[in-house]
Amino acid sequence: MSAETESFEDFRLNRQLLNAVADLGYSHPTPVQVKSIPLILAGHDVMGIAQTGTGKTAAYVLPLLMKVKYRQGDDPRALILAPTRELVLQIEDNIKSLGVYTDLRVTALYGGIGPKTQIEKLEEGVDILVATPGRFMDIYLKGHLHLKALKTLVLDEADKMMDMGFMPQIRKILEVIPVKRQNLLFSATMPEKVVKLSEEFLEFPEVVEITPQATAVETVEQELYEVPNLKTKINFLTWLLDHRHLERVMIFTRTKATADNVFKYIERKELGPVRVIHSNKGQNSRINAINEFKDGQLRILVSTDVSARGIDVSMVSHVINFDVPIIYEDYVHRIGRTGRARNEGVAITFANPAEMYHITKIEKIIRESIPVKKLPDAVEVVKTEKSEQIEIEREIDRFRRREDPGFKGAFHEKKKVFSTPKRKTKKKRRGR
Ligand code: AMP
Repeated sequence: MSAETESFEDFRLNRQLLNAVADLGYSHPTPVQVKSIPLILAGHDVMGIAQTGTGKTAAYVLPLLMKVKYRQGDDPRALILAPTRELVLQIEDNIKSLGVYTDLRVTALYGGIGPKTQIEKLEEGVDILVATPGRFMDIYLKGHLHLKALKTLVLDEADKMMDMGFMPQIRKILEVIPVKRQNLLFSATMPEKVVKLSEEFLEFPEVVEITPQATAVETVEQELYEVPNLKTKINFLTWLLDHRHLERVMIFTRTKATADNVFKYIERKELGPVRVIHSNKGQNSRINAINEFKDGQLRILVSTDVSARGIDVSMVSHVINFDVPIIYEDYVHRIGRTGRARNEGVAITFANPAEMYHITKIEKIIRESIPVKKLPDAVEVVKTEKSEQIEIEREIDRFRRREDPGFKGAFHEKKKVFSTPKRKTKKKRRGR
């Protein structure tokens, strides 16, 4: 990420969008967002090569919302095509969250259920459509879609759409929408056929390529521990700090709240000296903490991913991933803190059962598998609390459904015990 774009405020987005971004807890834009948002706002056709997990959805949804701005007329002004029902629902969800302070109407069209409700929703008026190509074409051919107002077309996961044989439908769609429009194409990979499609479909495109740093730093030894829950993570952390020779440790957490909690715990147990950095801390406090850590006055620095970016702290003996980052490249950034300049380092990752899903994705990016180790016998494994268990199972179900939209969810049966039938229906419909 370039140093000058440190915050979403640097993009010319309106207040409604910035507030939504803040609500979602996105404190800094990801690299694909830094590169794509200004180009899309400037009206360029963009070809983005970025995988799921890089923040690519918000990278096009934010500028799209900025352009479509407020509800107007009854016909769609932006169309997003995606390969699966599951992805369509996820994108719809993203648009709803990011557009929560706007009055924009979004409708999702996908197969697997009858088209009646979707057609009724279209008739109420729509600003943004998210659709699978097949269902979009069906409804178009029935005469329910008026496309003259369409100004932006997004193809998301273009490589997957081609693999799934959607090309004929996409070609037909290109024939029935206005020629003068902005085109955005996102794809996880760039095989020859995607390059060809982009030549056909994009005009003088700007290419944004987020190549994950593929190899984890070679001098870093990686260890992965399956840790069932938060309390056991704390027990294991205590054991590590007590029993292993950890001289200068960076502990990473996904959220500020976890960073603060871990920091307070270490301080209370007198396992430091320790300090914490995250975006709620003032600039001075952050700089002081980093300097103290560099000078060797601190044993431990707790940090969120965002705060750690761009700071050059070397000679870290151990990195502890207290949780697994969902922006997968952050894993590489985190472990790159150790093993710098030929210093051997160790990166220790704690993953609960739900986080193991992210590990499989991270392993794809780094093109190696992270050795799984057994928790030391001396670490007390605590029974997972009911509320945490529910969270973990929900998360696992969500990922399974992401991979396989037909998946009903192992959590279904158990859900009856914990939630009302009304909520169950809503969850199911939204596919989350
Ligand atoms: P995607 O690559 O679009 O599937 O996004 C992966 C995950 O990252 C989603 O859960 C997003 O909500 C989240 N995300 C997107 N942008 C940011 C950001 N700037 N900061 C933190 N999380 C983000």
